[in-house]
Amino acid sequence: MHFRKVENFDNLEMSYISDFSGAYIARNKNLLNELNLNPLTQFILEKSVFGTPIFKLGSCGNRLLILSGIHGNELPPQIANVKLLNELIKEDLNNTLYFIPFASPKSTMNNERTFNSIDLNRSAHINNSLSNLIIKAILDLKINFVGDFHSTARNANPGFESVFSSKSPTPESFLIANYISRDVGCDVISFDYSGSTYRGAVEDVCNLKGIPAITAEVLCPFANVARGSVERSFAQMKSFLSYFGV
Ligand SMILES: [Zn+2]
Repeated sequence: MHFRKVENFDNLEMSYISDFSGAYIARNKNLLNELNLNPLTQFILEKSVFGTPIFKLGSCGNRLLILSGIHGNELPPQIANVKLLNELIKEDLNNTLYFIPFASPKSTMNNERTFNSIDLNRSAHINNSLSNLIIKAILDLKINFVGDFHSTARNANPGFESVFSSKSPTPESFLIANYISRDVGCDVISFDYSGSTYRGAVEDVCNLKGIPAITAEVLCPFANVARGSVERSFAQMKSFLSYFGV
């Protein structure tokens, strides 16, 4: 996977996960209304027209991935991820951070959960599905830890603010989830073994490959942005990073 330096934004590098998932995210007005449309944010939206971009800051320490948009209609984490990239681009980092703010720009544009009717959090184990290409990038880049950020509606699964993890085969998943839970004040949902209830979640596929991963959820109606939900997703991301001293 080849990263190139981005003109006009020192420190920033980017590459693509795929070239078949791009779309005009700005057509999602519920999302657009909540973004601060500065030059970096506009740049991210422009690059998302051509596929799923992945951005990189820093070059030493642990390699961490902040992932959002696996479900395109879960808006708070996608907005928080863009905000996080905007904040951290100004920092001198002691770790290498990868950001995928919009895993599936097409799903985000359409404000829908699935990509071409496929749930990306049930298909990460299927060769060359869009979320499987994210897994391949994680392996290729030797990313050490993965935070996958979602939102959940009150009547959906899980329906409350939480961090999913598993105790086996990658116990650090459970430790990270407990840390975030204590730090931001949400529940921990843990499974004894990754992927035992359903298959193909990004978190589970990572944990099964020995890469500690968590799924973090904030409460928000699907396809909308509830007051405070972006801030709470942002706090979960910051907490995930602070576990590693970022
Ligand atoms: Zn989700």
